[in-house]
Amino acid sequence: LASPAENEPSHSFGNDISHDPSSPRRANATLVMLARNSDLDGVISSVEQLESKFNHKFNYPWVFLNDEPFSFEFKRRVKVLTDADVSFGLIPHETWVQPPWIDEERARKGRDILIKEGVIYGGSVSYRNMCRYNSGFFFHHELLTPYKWYWRVEPDVRFYCDIEYDPFLFMEDRDKIYGFTISMPEWEPTITSLWSVVKEFISDHPEYVSPNNSMDFISDDAGDTYNMCHFWSNFEIADMDFWRGEAYTKFFNYLENTGGFYYERWGDAPIHSIAAALFTRKDQIHFFKDIGYKHAEFAHCPQGRQWREGHCSCNPNDNFDFAQNSCLRYFMRLDDWMFG
Ligand code: GDP
Ligand code: MN
Repeated sequence: LASPAENEPSHSFGNDISHDPSSPRRANATLVMLARNSDLDGVISSVEQLESKFNHKFNYPWVFLNDEPFSFEFKRRVKVLTDADVSFGLIPHETWVQPPWIDEERARKGRDILIKEGVIYGGSVSYRNMCRYNSGFFFHHELLTPYKWYWRVEPDVRFYCDIEYDPFLFMEDRDKIYGFTISMPEWEPTITSLWSVVKEFISDHPEYVSPNNSMDFISDDAGDTYNMCHFWSNFEIADMDFWRGEAYTKFFNYLENTGGFYYERWGDAPIHSIAAALFTRKDQIHFFKDIGYKHAEFAHCPQGRQWREGHCSCNPNDNFDFAQNSCLRYFMRLDDWMFG
């Protein structure tokens, strides 16, 4: 279990300002990053950018989570980057490691198949731990339970543009649940059986499927097959109460019981995306087209007026939205993107 010293919450959660009428309205929100001590340089780079483009004006707290204790040096180098509250949490062991009921022989065979197929992280157990943790557990971490909204950040990402408004309040005021910047297809071999499990779940629980869902985003044949499209979850601005709610809790447990996180290599991105697409209304999913962002080799760069007003440092032509394998066209008409 997490030691109290490691998980010491910061002294205020930033939302407790109701007593001060001169303070601007704030959301009950936090920035959150999962990282290893060895990620320090990339963590600093991401925090430095998000602080200078956005958070130095808003001062939302940061929460860092790790399956091992953060080093003194890590905390010292990260805390100095912001005036906001920063807390460092240890992930409870039992929510991170491969559960004992998983058949390790079968899991090993699953890893071997993905290694042979050359799938990225195909042989990695720690990557599977991370995907399962992001799918089903982070929002129950004691440092995150006080908050409703989170913005997921990863080491070594880029934020290209000034963000002059509060995206959390934007989401809250419009009744949004899930926000993304980049969408793309998943590697099929990592989720071979996922869609059949999803279909079983929704036939057992049709009551959770929203009448105004986004099945069109994830299926080209009205739900018969999965088209592999997902929102890229290394960037998420979303409502943790949705993950904590009845529909997603039952959905996650259903998936978990199949062992697919370990027998295959189910990613948190398709799982979050399928849930958001099916259990929310389409208008509750928001494309942050004004947030310039890059993870690995894929960027979303705002266009036109938003690029100019955001003083964006990205090349507007380096934009995955218009790439052949972007899934944005399944989410919205690209005409609306360009001219809407
Ligand atoms: P990718 O984006 O799919 O290539 O995966 P990453 O390696 O970037 O991992 C996703 C997120 O989980 C990042 O924030 C990583 O820092 C974090 N992460 C991945 N593996 C581990 C791990 O074993 N321990 C911890 N503490 N964080 C991890
Ligand atoms: Mn990453």
